[in-house]
Amino acid sequence: MSKNFSFELLENDGDARAGIFRTPHGEIPTPIFAPVGTQATVKSLTPAHLHEINANLILANTYHLYLRPGDELISELGGLHKFMSWPNPILTDSGGFQVFSLGGINKIDDEGVTFKSHIDGAKHRFTPEKAIAIQENLGADIIMAFDECSEPYDQAYSEKAMQRTHNWAQRCVQAKTRQDQALFGIVQGGIFPELRQRSAEFIASLDLPGNAIGGLSVGETKEEMHTIIEVVNAILPVNKPRYLMGVGTPEDLINGVMRGIDIFDCVLPTRLARHKAAFTRNGRLNLGNAKHAHSTQPIDAMCTCYTCQNFSRAYIRHLIAAKELLSATLISIHNLHMLIDLAQEIRQAIIEKCFHTFAPTYLLALSNL
Ligand SMILES: [Zn+2]
Repeated sequence: MSKNFSFELLENDGDARAGIFRTPHGEIPTPIFAPVGTQATVKSLTPAHLHEINANLILANTYHLYLRPGDELISELGGLHKFMSWPNPILTDSGGFQVFSLGGINKIDDEGVTFKSHIDGAKHRFTPEKAIAIQENLGADIIMAFDECSEPYDQAYSEKAMQRTHNWAQRCVQAKTRQDQALFGIVQGGIFPELRQRSAEFIASLDLPGNAIGGLSVGETKEEMHTIIEVVNAILPVNKPRYLMGVGTPEDLINGVMRGIDIFDCVLPTRLARHKAAFTRNGRLNLGNAKHAHSTQPIDAMCTCYTCQNFSRAYIRHLIAAKELLSATLISIHNLHMLIDLAQEIRQAIIEKCFHTFAPTYLLALSNL
């Protein structure tokens, strides 16, 4: 690993690990949950809110920022950290997932992908080299190799997309020029253990500073997801961080850490907040529900976040009914705090060697509502 990045494992409990990933913008304690700031903003929150809930690593989306305002403009304005006023570590994805899920695909070939912008229909082309050039302009600490997400149940397509992902990962390694960014490779292969095994072996052989598992949480069952994580993590090197992309409910964090995952990200906490839903230690709450109209209780009695320390369920329900913007902010603060805090509790439990008892107790409580 280059002098700018290092990963130190502090303790483990079974396959669960507690560590530190060091980057030019600070240390990332792992396991960690990273809030998603798609458009260089975590929706409805200021950086001050994010500091208050102890956010550390933030994710931003290459596809969106390339289309608007443009990666060259962000580079001209001093890079993403300065542009969005986030001094701590940032991770950018490669744009692959959004090109395949949002962009109207014109053509996929071995060289790259031609797609139409979801904003104005204009034609664009991403290649591995282009995805790296954009991410170098954005300037995040962790950048991702350009990958192709397949239909997870289509074996022939999953194999083809996996092979292309491997070829593209090698080209990303060649294209990268900045030393202050860590490139992570991505394992693909749909729901097929044999493909995932081959993919993990290939991506591990690139000896990158970290490795990711892509193409999960896209419609497969939890059992299938857990099997794939186990197959892949049995192969990925122990001494590099492992990032499970786009996965992040409280249950997913516990189940992922139990199988050796270190980094998570997900839009779910802020997306749920805009749809009136909150995580609690006893499951999910719909705060728009009439039963909360007279409730003086906070969202979660055990939670130490700003929202739970100051506001009742009745007040938040009123904001939702009156369509006030503050409801999304208050629920987002709570939902993100809950996941960030859970990752920290998990980390502490691993360090104290009691994660194996913490995990089943927490999972049981989550299913209680
Ligand atoms: Zn709270």
